[in-house]
Amino acid sequence: MTEVDLAVIGAGLSGCSLISRLQQLGSDLTIALIEAGRGPGGRAATRRRREQSSWLLNHGAPGFSLSGSLPESMEELLAPLRSAGVLHRDNRAVLSLDAQASLSPANWPAACPDGGWWHGIPCMASICEALLDAAGSIHLSRQFETRVRWLERRQDHWLVQNEDRSWCLRAKRLVLSGTLLAHPRSLKMLAWNDVPLRSAVKEGVDVGLDTALSLLQHSQTEVRWNLMVDLGELALNGEKLPAQIWLNDAAKARWKVERLVLQPQSDGRWGLVVHGLDSGEAITPQNQSRLLAQQQQRLLNLLPELVQALPVVSAALEQATPLGVMRWGASRPLNNPLPPELQWCPTSGVGFCGDWIEGPGFGRAEGAILSGVNLAEQLHADR
Ligand SMILES: Cc1cc2nc3c(=O)[nH]c(=O)nc-3n(C[C@H](O)[C@H](O)[C@H](O)COP(=O)(O)OP(=O)(O)OC[C@H]3O[C@@H](n4cnc5c(N)ncnc54)[C@H](O)[C@@H]3O)c2cc1C
Repeated sequence: MTEVDLAVIGAGLSGCSLISRLQQLGSDLTIALIEAGRGPGGRAATRRRREQSSWLLNHGAPGFSLSGSLPESMEELLAPLRSAGVLHRDNRAVLSLDAQASLSPANWPAACPDGGWWHGIPCMASICEALLDAAGSIHLSRQFETRVRWLERRQDHWLVQNEDRSWCLRAKRLVLSGTLLAHPRSLKMLAWNDVPLRSAVKEGVDVGLDTALSLLQHSQTEVRWNLMVDLGELALNGEKLPAQIWLNDAAKARWKVERLVLQPQSDGRWGLVVHGLDSGEAITPQNQSRLLAQQQQRLLNLLPELVQALPVVSAALEQATPLGVMRWGASRPLNNPLPPELQWCPTSGVGFCGDWIEGPGFGRAEGAILSGVNLAEQLHADR
């Protein structure tokens, strides 16, 4: 059985930042990164198409804001990405759509953050890929398309297994970068009969972990249904399209959509992602495919209304190809952040990172990156 010093579950921004920062600090830990998805990125991932290798569509976060002044450790992590052009300032317009479907410049902080928008080049997944590449391969093994289901705390190590226990790993320390294995939402959403981390360490054994789990138990998240569309080539004639169109409160209430994201492709085509708000019905394995079909139809029906102020996009709708709906069961945490002092629970040798950690970037990519950097500093100091 493979044995490592550290197992990191999740290759999103926080998990990849953690690993990359450990490497920057000169860590010699052997690390295994385990990810359920096909590649790195998590909620900042990119949808590719098997038959069209050049197609890249950012179907989660299309970009993110960064505060003007970042901690030195985070600057050090991001500087190489900025200078390599992988993390790039996105200066394209961000517009607001009102309930009459008229467009104007957006002027609220979430849509127009002070530090501007940053995105990955050529795509959002490139940021996580670059973070992992910077970490090198000497001490890092990567395991994709593997969802961890079972956790077991043995005397001085963790046993980590997939659903059918056909894959197994032994690790001295464990980091969860997502909440799936620690939050009761998996009971309904995945029809699991327990919360894996709670089963692994019984209540009363580790006070820090008990506090973390009970806080998390009450945290809520937002669901997103993101419709992806191939618009084909657009007759732009020099017209510049906005990067994002955010619906104002009245428009959101009317259409149950948060924003529209437009993304040029390298071959002249355009991708469109419609960020649909929650339908209100809890997702279960039984109703998931029905809800996906309903949301796809709902969002497709709305499209002509939503883009009527952009004639060039309206005109493209007739030939557009819908590419399905991506369901983000927990697109962002809404409340009950985990205090940074609970990020590492030494008694059980388990830690947490992600956008659900308390701090200025809570619920956003900035918070995810910062939490990974901070946990790396702590793990390195405690080695
Ligand atoms: C639609 C959408 C729009 C967004 N827009 C913005 C925005 O405009 N600005 C902004 O700042 N942020 C935005 N965000 C939020 C931003 O994407 C997240 O804050 C950030 O990507 C979170 O990174 P993370 O590493 O904390 O978590 P994640 O990216 O979720 O990474 C966790 C990873 O762990 C994996 N994982 C979980 N459990 C297991 C398991 N049991 N086994 C194996 N793997 C597992 C998951 O597959 C995932 O890849 C948006 C998110 C979404 C979904």
